[in-house]
Amino acid sequence: MSLKLFNTLSKKKEEIYPQNGKYIKLYTCGPTVYDYAHIGNFRTYIFEDLLKRTLRFLGYEVLHVMNITDIDDKTIKGAINNNIDLKRYVEPYIKAFFEDIKKLNINFADFYPKATDYIGEMIKIIAALLDKEIAYRGNDGSIYFSIKNFSSYGKLSHLKLENIEEGYSRIDLDEYEKENISDFVLWKAYDKKRDGDIFWESPFGKGRPGWHIECSAMALKILKDPIDIHCGGVDNIFPHHENEIAQSESFTGREFVKWWVHCEHLIVEGRKMSKSLGNFYILRDLLSKGFKAEEIRFELLSTHYRSNLNFTFEGLTAARKNLFKIEEMVRRLKTIDIDKYYGYADRFILNTLEGFEKALCDDLNISKALAVFFEFIKDINILCDKKNIGKKDVINILDFLKKIDEVLAFLPLEEEEIDIPKEIKEALSKREKARERKDWKEADKIRDFIFSKGFVIEDTEKGAVIKKRKF
Ligand code: AMP
Ligand code: ZN
Repeated sequence: MSLKLFNTLSKKKEEIYPQNGKYIKLYTCGPTVYDYAHIGNFRTYIFEDLLKRTLRFLGYEVLHVMNITDIDDKTIKGAINNNIDLKRYVEPYIKAFFEDIKKLNINFADFYPKATDYIGEMIKIIAALLDKEIAYRGNDGSIYFSIKNFSSYGKLSHLKLENIEEGYSRIDLDEYEKENISDFVLWKAYDKKRDGDIFWESPFGKGRPGWHIECSAMALKILKDPIDIHCGGVDNIFPHHENEIAQSESFTGREFVKWWVHCEHLIVEGRKMSKSLGNFYILRDLLSKGFKAEEIRFELLSTHYRSNLNFTFEGLTAARKNLFKIEEMVRRLKTIDIDKYYGYADRFILNTLEGFEKALCDDLNISKALAVFFEFIKDINILCDKKNIGKKDVINILDFLKKIDEVLAFLPLEEEEIDIPKEIKEALSKREKARERKDWKEADKIRDFIFSKGFVIEDTEKGAVIKKRKF
């Protein structure tokens, strides 16, 4: 089966393939490390992880580059306000970013280039754009890209440029809105008041690169064009990706990227989760509230990437309950002691695999893929109820779950080691005795006591087992 993705450029679903015939070149815009990434950012990174995992599941090789934006208006401002050098300012946020992606089971990229390590490449591109007279020096000394010299400017965000031909201006901010379509900055001339001691030398004078040129330089240097897939959140479409196209294609004279794929926002009460609105959670906040990384991954992953995802704590609790259903099934399977092979599960495995793959191939329809998967859980539970599953069937099912988990990466397949306190073990044995005496009242009382201590009793075919309480 082949994967189709919605291309922002053509506004159509298109079939993906490696243009070099060997591997998919994937570039994704990474974090601006002026603060901790919030879970809105992680929604986009988890969508990109789903894309990469699906491509690999389908048998493609993927070469993935994600940049780290360590130079932009915000990192520079942060370093200056805190009176430390830029490198020291961004370091803890880079470290936190890697810790968070590890916790969320996001597969690592092959390269994480930092903008500060590619200034030479950026200067090379800007110099070539000046030579071609596509870029010019403004009267503030900064170098700007002239959008009227790139005839397809606006093709990604589907802008009508005729309306702004007259009297458009230029802008030297890294982030701006569509209403401010303008010539954008490639190299910002040094300004002591704004930049402190942060600057780089260049043939165009002291200064620092604009945000957009950073991604063009790193993508072209490491992946080389044409790049297959370039991703980010929808807020990256304009101006960031539009400007990346303009600079890169003006520089090379060739198509920069074939498939542009963008993830809709994580929203809170109708508004984009963002630092500037103050309506954000970072991963650490949620973990300290007792949510598990798998639950957060499940919640961020389970809505189709082209729909907004409304973040709520009810949503996280629902994710927990769904994961609990899977856990229950796995636990049940592991208690099966019948030394037989029935084969009834095989048909469900095959159908589920087919449905799961088909849904993902259709523009990463994860909600459909999960619906197919939860149907499978129901069917397996019915087989268990009917005692139509033997040990060999269990092995096949667990192998299948492992396969599915190559994409989902949140299935509870490993038994969690837990420390059961002495008082709980003693209570459990008292409960067993109460049950033997048929003293149900006492047995229930002890069960409630165990529950109040954060544990639950599960009565399995092999006897009572203590588990940590989920909710
Ligand atoms: P930034 O660190 O602001 O450059 O953002 C990193 C990535 O997160 C970019 O791809 C953004 O498009 C994406 N992003 C930012 N806010 C959200 C949000 N609320 N929901 C989903 N993605 C987001
Ligand atoms: Zn970028």
